[in-house]
Amino acid sequence: MTSSVSTHRERLRRAAASAGDRGIDALLITPSEDYAYLLGYRAPAMERLTCLVVPADGQPALVLPRLEEPLARHELDGLDADLEIHAWDETDDPVQLVRRLVGGVRRVGLQDQMWARFALRLRAALDPAEMVTAGPTMSGLRQVKDADEIERLRAAATAADEAMTAITSEPLIGRVESDVSRHIRDLLIAAGHDDAGFAIVASGPNSASPHHTAGSRVIGAGDAIVIDIGGTRDGYASDTSRTAFAGEPPADFLALYEVLQRAQRAACDAVRPGISGAELDAVARDIITDAGYGDAFLHRTGHGIGRETHEEPYIVASNAEPLVVGNAFSVEPGIYIRDRWGARIEDIVICTADGGERLNTNPTDLYLVQ
Ligand code: ZN
Ligand code: ZN
Ligand code: ZN
Repeated sequence: MTSSVSTHRERLRRAAASAGDRGIDALLITPSEDYAYLLGYRAPAMERLTCLVVPADGQPALVLPRLEEPLARHELDGLDADLEIHAWDETDDPVQLVRRLVGGVRRVGLQDQMWARFALRLRAALDPAEMVTAGPTMSGLRQVKDADEIERLRAAATAADEAMTAITSEPLIGRVESDVSRHIRDLLIAAGHDDAGFAIVASGPNSASPHHTAGSRVIGAGDAIVIDIGGTRDGYASDTSRTAFAGEPPADFLALYEVLQRAQRAACDAVRPGISGAELDAVARDIITDAGYGDAFLHRTGHGIGRETHEEPYIVASNAEPLVVGNAFSVEPGIYIRDRWGARIEDIVICTADGGERLNTNPTDLYLVQ
Protein backbone atom coordinates (compact mmCIF):
# COMPACT_ATOMS: atom_id res chain seq x y z
CA MET A 1 0.00 0.00 0.00
CA THR A 2 1.49 3.32 -1.03
CA SER A 3 1.08 6.37 1.18
CA SER A 4 -0.99 7.93 -1.59
CA VAL A 5 -3.43 5.02 -1.54
CA SER A 6 -3.78 5.20 2.24
CA THR A 7 -4.28 8.99 2.06
CA HIS A 8 -7.05 8.70 -0.50
CA ARG A 9 -8.65 5.70 1.20
CA GLU A 10 -8.84 7.82 4.35
CA ARG A 11 -10.30 10.78 2.42
CA LEU A 12 -13.01 8.54 0.95
CA ARG A 13 -13.80 7.20 4.41
CA ARG A 14 -14.02 10.70 5.89
CA ALA A 15 -16.17 11.97 3.01
CA ALA A 16 -18.62 9.13 3.62
CA ALA A 17 -18.70 9.76 7.37
CA SER A 18 -19.12 13.51 6.90
CA ALA A 19 -21.94 12.99 4.38
CA GLY A 20 -23.65 10.68 6.89
CA ASP A 21 -23.30 13.32 9.61
CA ARG A 22 -25.09 15.78 7.34
CA GLY A 23 -27.93 13.37 6.56
CA ILE A 24 -26.71 12.80 3.00
CA ASP A 25 -27.09 9.18 1.82
CA ALA A 26 -24.64 9.47 -1.08
CA LEU A 27 -22.28 11.97 -2.67
CA LEU A 28 -22.16 12.10 -6.45
CA ILE A 29 -18.80 13.58 -7.43
CA THR A 30 -18.13 14.37 -11.09
CA PRO A 31 -14.65 15.39 -12.39
CA SER A 32 -13.52 18.44 -10.41
CA GLU A 33 -11.01 19.31 -7.73
CA ASP A 34 -13.24 17.40 -5.27
CA TYR A 35 -12.83 14.32 -7.46
CA ALA A 36 -9.06 14.78 -7.66
CA TYR A 37 -8.87 15.34 -3.91
CA LEU A 38 -10.67 12.06 -3.21
CA LEU A 39 -9.12 9.86 -5.90
CA GLY A 40 -5.68 11.40 -6.47
CA TYR A 41 -6.03 12.03 -10.19
CA ARG A 42 -7.83 14.44 -12.46
CA ALA A 43 -10.40 13.04 -14.85
CA PRO A 44 -11.65 15.10 -17.79
CA ALA A 45 -15.06 16.79 -17.42
CA MET A 46 -16.89 16.06 -20.66
CA GLU A 47 -20.16 15.02 -22.25
CA ARG A 48 -19.69 11.38 -21.17
CA LEU A 49 -20.55 10.93 -17.49
CA THR A 50 -17.82 10.05 -15.03
CA CYS A 51 -19.20 9.94 -11.47
CA LEU A 52 -17.71 8.82 -8.18
CA VAL A 53 -20.50 7.56 -5.92
CA VAL A 54 -19.66 7.78 -2.21
CA PRO A 55 -22.45 6.27 -0.11
CA ALA A 56 -22.59 7.22 3.56
CA ASP A 57 -22.56 3.47 4.21
CA GLY A 58 -21.04 0.90 1.90
CA GLN A 59 -18.41 0.70 -0.78
CA PRO A 60 -17.70 3.69 -3.04
CA ALA A 61 -18.24 3.11 -6.75
CA LEU A 62 -16.82 4.73 -9.85
CA VAL A 63 -19.01 5.02 -12.94
CA LEU A 64 -17.02 5.96 -16.00
CA PRO A 65 -16.94 5.57 -19.79
CA ARG A 66 -15.20 2.38 -20.92
CA LEU A 67 -12.55 4.39 -22.76
CA GLU A 68 -11.60 6.21 -19.53
CA GLU A 69 -11.11 2.99 -17.57
CA PRO A 70 -7.45 2.30 -18.47
CA LEU A 71 -6.42 5.83 -17.44
CA ALA A 72 -8.38 5.55 -14.20
CA ARG A 73 -6.93 2.14 -13.29
CA HIS A 74 -3.43 3.40 -14.00
CA GLU A 75 -3.85 6.62 -12.02
CA LEU A 76 -5.69 5.02 -9.10
CA ASP A 77 -2.55 2.96 -8.60
CA GLY A 78 -4.03 0.41 -6.19
CA LEU A 79 -6.94 2.47 -4.88
CA ASP A 80 -9.17 0.76 -7.49
CA ALA A 81 -9.27 -2.26 -5.15
CA ASP A 82 -11.36 -0.10 -2.79
CA LEU A 83 -13.86 0.88 -5.48
CA GLU A 84 -16.56 -0.92 -7.39
CA ILE A 85 -15.70 0.13 -10.93
CA HIS A 86 -18.53 0.27 -13.45
CA ALA A 87 -17.33 1.04 -16.96
CA TRP A 88 -20.15 1.84 -19.37
CA ASP A 89 -20.26 1.33 -23.13
CA GLU A 90 -21.14 3.99 -25.69
CA THR A 91 -24.83 2.99 -25.90
CA ASP A 92 -25.41 2.47 -22.16
CA ASP A 93 -27.21 5.06 -20.03
CA PRO A 94 -24.81 5.95 -17.19
CA VAL A 95 -27.50 7.89 -15.31
CA GLN A 96 -29.51 4.68 -14.95
CA LEU A 97 -26.34 2.96 -13.77
CA VAL A 98 -25.96 5.56 -11.01
CA ARG A 99 -29.65 5.19 -10.16
CA ARG A 100 -29.24 1.42 -9.68
CA LEU A 101 -26.18 2.00 -7.47
CA VAL A 102 -27.88 4.44 -5.11
CA GLY A 103 -31.47 3.16 -5.49
CA GLY A 104 -33.86 4.37 -2.80
CA VAL A 105 -31.74 7.21 -1.43
CA ARG A 106 -33.58 10.09 0.25
CA ARG A 107 -30.89 12.76 0.08
CA VAL A 108 -28.05 13.08 -2.43
CA GLY A 109 -25.13 15.53 -2.48
CA LEU A 110 -24.16 16.68 -5.99
CA GLN A 111 -20.66 18.02 -6.70
CA ASP A 112 -20.98 21.81 -6.87
CA GLN A 113 -19.71 22.21 -10.44
CA MET A 114 -21.55 19.20 -11.90
CA TRP A 115 -22.76 20.04 -15.41
CA ALA A 116 -26.48 20.86 -15.58
CA ARG A 117 -26.98 18.16 -18.25
CA PHE A 118 -26.08 15.53 -15.62
CA ALA A 119 -27.61 17.24 -12.59
CA LEU A 120 -31.03 17.55 -14.25
CA ARG A 121 -31.04 13.97 -15.54
CA LEU A 122 -29.94 12.65 -12.15
CA ARG A 123 -32.68 14.66 -10.46
CA ALA A 124 -35.28 13.11 -12.76
CA ALA A 125 -33.85 9.58 -12.35
CA LEU A 126 -33.59 9.78 -8.55
CA ASP A 127 -36.94 11.49 -7.95
CA PRO A 128 -38.18 12.00 -5.23
CA ALA A 129 -34.74 12.12 -3.57
CA GLU A 130 -33.77 15.54 -2.24
CA MET A 131 -30.75 17.08 -3.97
CA VAL A 132 -28.28 19.23 -2.07
CA THR A 133 -24.78 20.44 -2.95
CA ALA A 134 -21.83 18.35 -1.83
CA GLY A 135 -19.87 21.59 -1.32
CA PRO A 136 -20.19 21.95 2.46
CA THR A 137 -19.22 18.30 2.98
CA MET A 138 -16.24 18.52 0.64
CA SER A 139 -14.98 21.91 1.77
CA GLY A 140 -15.24 20.76 5.37
CA LEU A 141 -12.60 18.18 4.49
CA ARG A 142 -10.57 20.16 1.99
CA GLN A 143 -10.13 23.28 4.09
CA VAL A 144 -8.05 21.39 6.66
CA LYS A 145 -4.75 20.72 4.92
CA ASP A 146 -2.47 17.84 5.87
CA ALA A 147 1.32 18.13 6.03
CA ASP A 148 1.79 17.01 2.42
CA GLU A 149 -0.70 19.59 1.14
CA ILE A 150 0.99 22.34 3.15
CA GLU A 151 4.36 21.42 1.62
CA ARG A 152 2.83 21.62 -1.86
CA LEU A 153 1.34 25.02 -1.05
CA ARG A 154 4.73 26.13 0.26
CA ALA A 155 6.49 24.96 -2.91
CA ALA A 156 3.93 26.82 -5.04
CA ALA A 157 4.32 29.98 -2.89
CA THR A 158 8.11 29.81 -3.11
CA ALA A 159 7.92 29.52 -6.87
CA ALA A 160 5.57 32.51 -7.05
CA ASP A 161 7.93 34.51 -4.81
CA GLU A 162 10.77 33.75 -7.20
CA ALA A 163 8.76 35.08 -10.14
CA MET A 164 7.76 38.18 -8.11
CA THR A 165 11.38 38.88 -7.15
CA ALA A 166 12.39 38.60 -10.79
CA ILE A 167 9.71 40.93 -12.20
CA THR A 168 10.16 43.58 -9.53
CA SER A 169 13.90 43.64 -10.29
CA GLU A 170 13.30 44.56 -13.93
CA PRO A 171 12.75 48.04 -15.37
CA LEU A 172 9.01 48.44 -16.04
CA ILE A 173 8.66 52.03 -17.29
CA GLY A 174 7.79 52.08 -20.99
CA ARG A 175 6.50 48.50 -21.06
CA VAL A 176 2.92 47.48 -21.86
CA GLU A 177 0.97 45.83 -19.02
CA SER A 178 0.03 42.80 -21.13
CA ASP A 179 3.65 42.25 -22.21
CA VAL A 180 4.77 42.33 -18.59
CA SER A 181 1.94 39.93 -17.73
CA ARG A 182 3.02 37.46 -20.43
CA HIS A 183 6.58 37.68 -19.18
CA ILE A 184 5.42 36.93 -15.61
CA ARG A 185 3.65 33.79 -16.85
CA ASP A 186 6.97 32.62 -18.33
CA LEU A 187 8.67 33.40 -15.01
CA LEU A 188 6.03 31.40 -13.09
CA ILE A 189 6.64 28.37 -15.31
CA ALA A 190 10.42 28.80 -15.11
CA ALA A 191 10.13 28.86 -11.31
CA GLY A 192 8.37 25.48 -11.31
CA HIS A 193 4.65 26.06 -11.82
CA ASP A 194 2.82 23.53 -13.98
CA ASP A 195 0.58 26.28 -15.24
CA ALA A 196 0.67 30.03 -14.92
CA GLY A 197 -2.90 30.78 -13.99
CA PHE A 198 -2.94 34.58 -13.88
CA ALA A 199 -0.71 37.61 -13.81
CA ILE A 200 -2.48 40.86 -12.99
CA VAL A 201 -0.45 43.92 -13.90
CA ALA A 202 -2.48 47.01 -13.00
CA SER A 203 -0.66 50.29 -13.49
CA GLY A 204 -1.51 53.91 -12.80
CA PRO A 205 -5.30 54.42 -12.48
CA ASN A 206 -5.77 50.70 -13.30
CA SER A 207 -4.17 49.87 -9.95
CA ALA A 208 -7.35 51.21 -8.33
CA SER A 209 -9.33 48.32 -9.91
CA PRO A 210 -8.78 45.20 -7.79
CA HIS A 211 -9.44 42.69 -10.57
CA HIS A 212 -8.04 44.62 -13.51
CA THR A 213 -6.06 42.00 -15.44
CA ALA A 214 -3.53 43.52 -17.82
CA GLY A 215 -4.19 45.66 -20.84
CA SER A 216 -2.65 47.92 -23.45
CA ARG A 217 -1.61 50.66 -21.05
CA VAL A 218 2.07 51.64 -21.11
CA ILE A 219 3.60 51.89 -17.64
CA GLY A 220 4.91 55.37 -16.91
CA ALA A 221 6.88 57.21 -14.22
CA GLY A 222 4.62 58.08 -11.30
CA ASP A 223 2.52 54.89 -11.62
CA ALA A 224 1.61 52.60 -8.78
CA ILE A 225 1.65 49.02 -10.11
CA VAL A 226 -0.28 46.21 -8.44
CA ILE A 227 1.16 42.83 -9.44
CA ASP A 228 -0.96 39.81 -8.44
CA ILE A 229 0.26 36.47 -9.73
CA GLY A 230 -0.24 32.75 -9.30
CA GLY A 231 -0.64 29.35 -10.82
CA THR A 232 -0.55 25.73 -9.76
CA ARG A 233 2.25 23.38 -8.92
CA ASP A 234 1.70 19.70 -8.09
CA GLY A 235 -2.04 20.34 -7.95
CA TYR A 236 -1.86 23.22 -5.45
CA ALA A 237 -2.26 26.93 -6.09
CA SER A 238 -0.11 29.98 -5.47
CA ASP A 239 -1.45 33.54 -5.21
CA THR A 240 0.62 36.54 -4.14
CA SER A 241 0.48 40.30 -4.65
CA ARG A 242 3.04 43.03 -4.28
CA THR A 243 2.85 46.69 -5.18
CA ALA A 244 5.57 48.52 -7.07
CA PHE A 245 6.01 52.21 -7.82
CA ALA A 246 7.64 53.51 -10.99
CA GLY A 247 9.97 56.33 -10.12
CA GLU A 248 9.79 58.43 -6.98
CA PRO A 249 6.64 57.78 -4.90
CA PRO A 250 4.91 60.94 -3.58
CA ALA A 251 4.30 61.39 0.13
CA ASP A 252 0.55 60.71 -0.05
CA PHE A 253 1.14 57.34 -1.72
CA LEU A 254 3.77 56.42 0.86
CA ALA A 255 1.31 57.35 3.63
CA LEU A 256 -1.37 55.10 2.11
CA TYR A 257 1.15 52.30 1.69
CA GLU A 258 2.33 52.51 5.29
CA VAL A 259 -1.25 51.98 6.49
CA LEU A 260 -1.75 49.04 4.14
CA GLN A 261 1.48 47.33 5.15
CA ARG A 262 0.64 47.77 8.83
CA ALA A 263 -2.87 46.34 8.31
CA GLN A 264 -1.59 43.35 6.35
CA ARG A 265 1.08 42.57 8.93
CA ALA A 266 -1.36 42.92 11.83
CA ALA A 267 -3.78 40.49 10.19
CA CYS A 268 -1.00 37.95 9.52
CA ASP A 269 0.11 38.29 13.16
CA ALA A 270 -3.47 37.84 14.44
CA VAL A 271 -3.91 34.41 12.84
CA ARG A 272 -4.44 31.68 15.42
CA PRO A 273 -6.84 28.78 15.93
CA GLY A 274 -10.17 30.07 17.23
CA ILE A 275 -10.20 33.51 15.62
CA SER A 276 -13.04 33.76 13.11
CA GLY A 277 -12.80 34.85 9.50
CA ALA A 278 -14.88 37.90 10.48
CA GLU A 279 -12.56 38.84 13.35
CA LEU A 280 -9.48 38.48 11.17
CA ASP A 281 -11.08 40.62 8.46
CA ALA A 282 -11.76 43.26 11.13
CA VAL A 283 -8.11 43.34 12.24
CA ALA A 284 -7.02 44.58 8.82
CA ARG A 285 -10.15 46.65 8.15
CA ASP A 286 -10.09 48.55 11.45
CA ILE A 287 -6.55 49.80 10.83
CA ILE A 288 -7.43 50.91 7.31
CA THR A 289 -10.69 52.51 8.45
CA ASP A 290 -9.06 54.33 11.37
CA ALA A 291 -6.58 55.85 8.92
CA GLY A 292 -9.46 57.18 6.83
CA TYR A 293 -9.33 54.69 3.94
CA GLY A 294 -12.24 52.45 5.00
CA ASP A 295 -14.29 53.08 1.83
CA ALA A 296 -11.24 52.36 -0.29
CA PHE A 297 -10.83 48.77 0.97
CA LEU A 298 -13.35 47.33 -1.47
CA HIS A 299 -13.12 43.59 -0.87
CA ARG A 300 -12.80 40.91 1.79
CA THR A 301 -9.42 40.38 3.44
CA GLY A 302 -8.84 36.92 2.00
CA HIS A 303 -9.90 33.55 0.70
CA GLY A 304 -8.93 29.97 1.38
CA ILE A 305 -6.53 28.33 -1.07
CA GLY A 306 -5.61 24.76 -1.88
CA ARG A 307 -6.41 22.79 -5.00
CA GLU A 308 -8.35 25.87 -6.07
CA THR A 309 -7.24 29.49 -5.85
CA HIS A 310 -10.46 30.52 -4.13
CA GLU A 311 -12.00 28.06 -1.68
CA GLU A 312 -13.03 28.03 1.99
CA PRO A 313 -12.39 29.49 4.50
CA TYR A 314 -13.19 33.05 3.41
CA ILE A 315 -11.74 35.86 5.53
CA VAL A 316 -14.81 38.04 5.35
CA ALA A 317 -17.16 39.83 7.75
CA SER A 318 -19.91 37.24 7.17
CA ASN A 319 -17.78 34.24 8.25
CA ALA A 320 -18.25 33.56 11.96
CA GLU A 321 -16.52 30.14 11.76
CA PRO A 322 -13.36 29.89 13.87
CA LEU A 323 -10.14 29.08 12.06
CA VAL A 324 -8.59 25.70 12.80
CA VAL A 325 -5.09 24.29 12.50
CA GLY A 326 -4.44 23.42 8.85
CA ASN A 327 -6.49 26.22 7.27
CA ALA A 328 -4.66 27.91 4.39
CA PHE A 329 -5.80 31.30 3.11
CA SER A 330 -4.70 34.63 1.70
CA VAL A 331 -4.32 37.81 3.72
CA GLU A 332 -4.67 40.52 1.08
CA PRO A 333 -6.01 43.87 2.12
CA GLY A 334 -5.95 46.61 -0.51
CA ILE A 335 -6.57 50.34 -0.70
CA TYR A 336 -7.96 51.69 -3.97
CA ILE A 337 -8.40 55.40 -4.77
CA ARG A 338 -10.58 55.49 -7.88
CA ASP A 339 -8.99 56.91 -11.06
CA ARG A 340 -5.76 57.56 -9.22
CA TRP A 341 -3.91 54.62 -7.72
CA GLY A 342 -4.15 51.58 -5.51
CA ALA A 343 -2.09 49.05 -3.60
CA ARG A 344 -2.46 45.48 -2.38
CA ILE A 345 -0.23 43.12 -0.40
CA GLU A 346 -1.08 39.41 -0.44
CA ASP A 347 0.49 36.50 1.36
CA ILE A 348 -0.71 32.93 1.82
CA VAL A 349 -0.85 32.06 5.52
CA ILE A 350 -1.26 28.72 7.29
CA CYS A 351 -3.07 28.56 10.63
CA THR A 352 -0.81 26.50 12.92
CA ALA A 353 -1.16 25.71 16.62
CA ASP A 354 1.39 28.49 17.27
CA GLY A 355 -0.28 31.12 15.08
CA GLY A 356 0.02 32.17 11.46
CA GLU A 357 2.84 31.01 9.23
CA ARG A 358 3.39 33.00 6.02
CA LEU A 359 4.27 30.85 3.04
CA ASN A 360 5.28 33.90 0.99
CA THR A 361 8.53 35.26 2.33
CA ASN A 362 9.28 38.21 0.03
CA PRO A 363 9.46 41.59 1.80
CA THR A 364 6.10 43.37 1.80
CA ASP A 365 7.75 46.77 1.28
CA LEU A 366 6.86 48.97 -1.69
CA TYR A 367 9.04 47.88 -4.63
CA LEU A 368 10.65 50.84 -6.36
CA VAL A 369 11.14 50.18 -10.06
CA GLN A 370 12.47 52.16 -13.03
ZN1 ZN B 1 -9.25 37.60 -6.35
ZN1 ZN C 1 -5.96 36.09 -3.62
ZN1 ZN D 1 -4.07 37.41 -5.70
